[in-house]
Amino acid sequence: TEAPKPITSAKDPRFAPTLYAHVGQAESWTLEYYQRNGGYEGVKRAFAMGNDAVIEEVKKSGLRGRGGAGFATGLKWSFMPLNDGRQHIVLCNADESEPGTFKDRYLMSEDPHQLIEGMLIGGFAMRATLGYIYIRGEYVHAAERLWAAIKEARAAGLLGQNILGSGFDFDIQVHRGAGAYICGEETALMNSLEGLRANPRLKPPFPAAAGLYGLPTTINNVETFCAVTHILKYGADWHANMGTEKSKGMKLFQISGPVRKPGVYELPLGTTFRELIYDWAGGPTEEMKAIIPGGISCQLLPYTETILDTPMDYEALAAAGSSLGTGGVTLIPKSASIVNTTFNSVRFYAHESCGKCTPCREGISGWMVKMYEKLVRGKGQPGDTQLILDMADNIGGRSFCALADACLGPVLSSIKLFRAEYDLAEQGQLLQGGGRWRDE
Ligand code: NAD
Repeated sequence: TEAPKPITSAKDPRFAPTLYAHVGQAESWTLEYYQRNGGYEGVKRAFAMGNDAVIEEVKKSGLRGRGGAGFATGLKWSFMPLNDGRQHIVLCNADESEPGTFKDRYLMSEDPHQLIEGMLIGGFAMRATLGYIYIRGEYVHAAERLWAAIKEARAAGLLGQNILGSGFDFDIQVHRGAGAYICGEETALMNSLEGLRANPRLKPPFPAAAGLYGLPTTINNVETFCAVTHILKYGADWHANMGTEKSKGMKLFQISGPVRKPGVYELPLGTTFRELIYDWAGGPTEEMKAIIPGGISCQLLPYTETILDTPMDYEALAAAGSSLGTGGVTLIPKSASIVNTTFNSVRFYAHESCGKCTPCREGISGWMVKMYEKLVRGKGQPGDTQLILDMADNIGGRSFCALADACLGPVLSSIKLFRAEYDLAEQGQLLQGGGRWRDE
């Protein structure tokens, strides 16, 4: 028999949203609603399959981490040691802070049991007994919904000892961050959970070898755990049949900037920018010049017909010179100065740098932000752009964690694509004929 055709477009009549299926429904966050709509069926199937079969199922589904890096989830789970006698931990990275990224907050506030179930499945597969959700401090509402859902799950025997008679013990704690972007870096997050300053740790060792309190730990993003819930409920083939050959499943794409309907759209991986921007988000409200494809650490792409027809998946975006990242698409209009937009990004990274390593502390937080400040305040001089490029050369690949390199994404791509605007800024002008500051 012929293999079923993969679903690569949300226009395909076979496509139905799952992750966001209940967002916006009354009482969607309660256990009663969740169970009424087939909730906790995935974990029951997981218990029936056994730990190792669950890991194989996740591998087979082709799921890749939805935090941004796209690392194969099943493979990551298989790194956890077997029967080593130590406590195992699963961590959920809910410190969603990448500018342009706002998908996880609604998963947690509108459908918290979906996440709890995904963590239960992960905990069971990896022989963990404890799960932590490290949630961004500003997400107060989502944290409250999570606390309430965990309480309900405990009372119903879905968390705690001998869950649903399976012999599996597992509980989840929610920990609120205190407002630092670096806490989303997985090793900094673990330090923060341990009560230490959130400085990143060197990798390797990776968390499966030595994670929280030195124990075997696996950390996944909120959306990743939620996807696992549906993979166990509907099967690996169902998931592998959506998306493209190497980028499977659906993704929560976010779109912001001057479009008619900004927001979060659940679409199969491989959906084109054109579909997202025009068919779902209602089209731009002004003329565009650039696209940030997946959070500001990604390289900018030009707003061209070719890019609009590019599928949003890991491979196609890498081939286009950028990355899928968090799927947080931000549009930059022609009226915005690219130098000033990039200054906003650089300022963000400088503010969020932990200051531990010299290239980031002195390079990004010191020199880079000052150079941009000079350009946007009309004090640019010939040679400034070259100096920025030289600095980037000395920072790139030399920092302790990914933060400094992430800052260079918008810097280098904006210079490459919009050098003329930098030349203008060296003359003391932001845009031909004046231009306005985006944050004015
Ligand atoms: P990474 O590629 O270093 O790692 C991704 C994951 O795979 C990690 O869990 C890591 O432990 C694991 N991994 C990678 N190589 C491994 C190996 N050899 N053995 C075992 N495990 C391995 O990326 P990262 O620094 O964790 O994350 C960078 C991404 O984070 C960027 O793509 C960016 O888009 C994203 N990001 C997201 C947010 C957000 O709010 N969601 C914020 C900032 C950055």
